[in-house]
Amino acid sequence: MRILVLTFFAALIALRVVSPAHAEEVPFADWLRDLRKEALTKGISERTVNAALTGVEPIARVIELDRRQPEFTWTFRKYMTTMVNADRVAKGREKLAQNHALLAEVGKKYGIQPQYLVAFWGLETDFGRLAEGYFPTVAALATLAHDGRRSAFFREQLLAALKILDQGHITPERMKGSWAGAMGHFQFIPTTFAAYATDHDGDGKIDIWGNKKDAYASAANFLTRSGWKDDEIWGREVILPRGFDFNLVGMGVKKTLGEWAKLGVRRVEGGNLPDVDMSASLVAPSGAQGPAFLIYGNFRTIMVWNRSIFYGLAIGQLADRLVGKPAFSTLGPDAERGLSFEEGKEMQERLTALGFDTGGVDGVVGAKSRDAIQEFQRKAGLTPDGYPSVELLERLRKGL
Ligand code: CA
Repeated sequence: MRILVLTFFAALIALRVVSPAHAEEVPFADWLRDLRKEALTKGISERTVNAALTGVEPIARVIELDRRQPEFTWTFRKYMTTMVNADRVAKGREKLAQNHALLAEVGKKYGIQPQYLVAFWGLETDFGRLAEGYFPTVAALATLAHDGRRSAFFREQLLAALKILDQGHITPERMKGSWAGAMGHFQFIPTTFAAYATDHDGDGKIDIWGNKKDAYASAANFLTRSGWKDDEIWGREVILPRGFDFNLVGMGVKKTLGEWAKLGVRRVEGGNLPDVDMSASLVAPSGAQGPAFLIYGNFRTIMVWNRSIFYGLAIGQLADRLVGKPAFSTLGPDAERGLSFEEGKEMQERLTALGFDTGGVDGVVGAKSRDAIQEFQRKAGLTPDGYPSVELLERLRKGL
């Protein structure tokens, strides 16, 4: 019993460390009363506020999911074999065929090739299988807005969700989604809905949960307004020449296809790059030992949707596979594991201490951390591929 009590207090102390001081100071009921007032001053009707917020309680599971930390970060290989496996490609081809008329109509109106819409659909909700969602959106967002870790962001999402209800697009009972408030076939958060969702079938309601016409058009509208071009592809896998200068890797370096060709970059199957006037960057998601890709403007648009380079390459690969293009020739090193969350943090701490800007220490090695790694590699005389490997961490522990 004594041990149990101690453990209980230890857990409370641990919780206080991750939870900002103000989070538990305002009881949920008081917080909700204040939120109601704000919603009314923002012009949301009393009827909607009552229907949506009466009886709303925080969801413990949502807090749990928000605090969850992955044990290991995923390697490119692990990510790709999970997101774009043979089952998903087969299912995607079926969905592309089944919905072809609608996809073509929406694709023509907004300027998006159908296979890309299906690729986003596949990665976001397994082609709509998860579109209905599990968590009631208002309660999930209220939980996160009250919790205090990112309360301003989630409060804005919650007010946007109330606005959607007030406009009558969906009932509070049907407004469900992910634990973090992403909703419908393409997992739009409420502010994305407000900015891009559209009523394709003209029935006066935007239903991204149960109506594929509205869902496809909303996703297409997002993409086209974020710069998508339907006469271009996302990019392509390439082969680098022996002795290639890895300082040229990264989203920040842009060259024309002609310039890349002069540097010896070739199509993965061996031919010359297309002779068109296009600007491209080179990415190497698993470092010098893995595959390399030239990415075009549409890839940057995919990154407006989701900032992850892995995600962008998964969209590109899935879209390609749906129309019969080959799989990537390699996914990079096989046996290696990704960094653990703690190792990712240590890497960022060590880089920061050495004067390289990782954009914060959060254990998630994103684009900014990769740039810092590349900078370190340059100064340390290593191949500057920006790849966050276990070997690189060991090297970092020895200093510059
Ligand atoms: Ca509609």
